[in-house]
Amino acid sequence: MPELVVNEIFHSIQGESSHMGRPCSFIRLTYCNLRCTYCDTAYAFEDGERMSVDEIIHKVDAFRCGLVEVTGGEPLMQPAVHDLLKGLCDSGYEVLLETGGSLDISEVDPRVKRIVDFKCPGSGMAKKNLWSNVSHLRKGDEVKFVIRDREDFDWSVNHIIGDQISRRCPVLMSVVFGALEPVELARWVLEAGIDVRFQLQMHKYVWEPSARGV
Ligand code: SF4
Repeated sequence: MPELVVNEIFHSIQGESSHMGRPCSFIRLTYCNLRCTYCDTAYAFEDGERMSVDEIIHKVDAFRCGLVEVTGGEPLMQPAVHDLLKGLCDSGYEVLLETGGSLDISEVDPRVKRIVDFKCPGSGMAKKNLWSNVSHLRKGDEVKFVIRDREDFDWSVNHIIGDQISRRCPVLMSVVFGALEPVELARWVLEAGIDVRFQLQMHKYVWEPSARGV
């Protein structure tokens, strides 16, 4: 039976993406290959409990919620994540996968909606982006850029236009919480006339910004 190292499993309101506002179960897997300057989940780098795929799904079943997100850390670091994603889909869940964009997404179960968080220069991790992932994007997927400053914004716009990302799937833009005023990003988006979905990390406004398990 495949096993994974799991940091936490909880039930909350989806705070990001086009699914924002929907009740959602979250499975946060341990480990990350990146070290973003603004990371708010560093507690997932090492801490975790080994669980079988069946144990994880059993725990999610108890929430009686049809939407599930597998996140991290970087969930694609553990090969058994593919068994978990398949098991969740086979169980009838609508499954989201949030990944940092540095690892190959092509092997992910086609029923999964992937949210690919390509890293901007302000994260310190932009060199790790695996741009071949753009060619694997499909209906239901989304791409996200988290913007720290004007350099990040201009860099993102270049990729959105140059790589034709917004032709493949919706593109999300949000601010690094506490580093850039949302009104600034809103103004830049309007001035640039680009087809993106401006968003805030809603859970950081509903609960304490540093709260875990929400
Ligand atoms: S990819 Fe996510 S979990 Fe990993 S360092 Fe960056 S923000 Fe943190």
